Amino acid sequence: MGGVSNVPLIKDGKRLDGRKPDELRDVRIEAGVLERADGSAYLEWGSNKVLAAVYGPQEVLPKHLSDPTKAVLTYRYNMAPFSVDDRKRPGPDRRSVEISKISAEALEKVVLLEQFPNTMIKVFVEVLQAEAGTRCAALTAASVALADAGIPMRDLVVACAAGKINDTVVLDLGKSEDNFGQADVPIAIVPHTGEIVLMQMDGDLTRDEYTQALDLAVKGSMQVYELQKDALKRRYGGVVDEQ
Ligand code: UDP
Repeated sequence: MGGVSNVPLIKDGKRLDGRKPDELRDVRIEAGVLERADGSAYLEWGSNKVLAAVYGPQEVLPKHLSDPTKAVLTYRYNMAPFSVDDRKRPGPDRRSVEISKISAEALEKVVLLEQFPNTMIKVFVEVLQAEAGTRCAALTAASVALADAGIPMRDLVVACAAGKINDTVVLDLGKSEDNFGQADVPIAIVPHTGEIVLMQMDGDLTRDEYTQALDLAVKGSMQVYELQKDALKRRYGGVVDEQ
């Protein structure tokens, strides 16, 4: 997020990759792609490629983390060393720890943790290829993987970002837009209630722009939500149970 508006990112109403301001990159989701995990999902979002795996509910280790009132949910967001242009140093860093924490908190809002006291649900997301928007892609995939694991949830969580480039509010920033744009606002919502379970902001927006960005991000999220449900229907057939 360079905070500059003079790098041309929109020409004749179209963005550098040909999208309109309110258009998402292509999103493709597949549920149940790994045999060893209890649940899994693979997601492509533009050039982002992420793989999510879920284990549990299972025994809590280390035991002192155990909670007699509910399951403990852990989330590990990890970028593969080969996921970015300059090799990413393996292992956690401040950014991945932050993304893991806020993503776990978002999922805790929908997973019925109280049904599984003294257990642990572990979510792992590996970013195989990154091109901006990976925290949203990761959380969206994780939510499908949790459903694939058969873990009871109030609803799926779906994430999407909006932001500002060349003084225009746009949906779902790509890499150059993220680098040279003016603001990026990733959000995650619970579609049925409209509850916002994650929100961050990088850069500056006026109050009006913020409202526009939020509106766009919610609309984008709802489009991705349909794709999450389609992925689960393709895997399990029929109608996904909507409470
Ligand atoms: N990125 C990178 N190296 C890093 C972290 C990020 O090259 O160590 C790139 C990657 O393409 C990522 C983008 O910068 O998708 C934007 O990162 P940001 O922290 O805004 O998170 P994201 O938009 O992926 O959720």
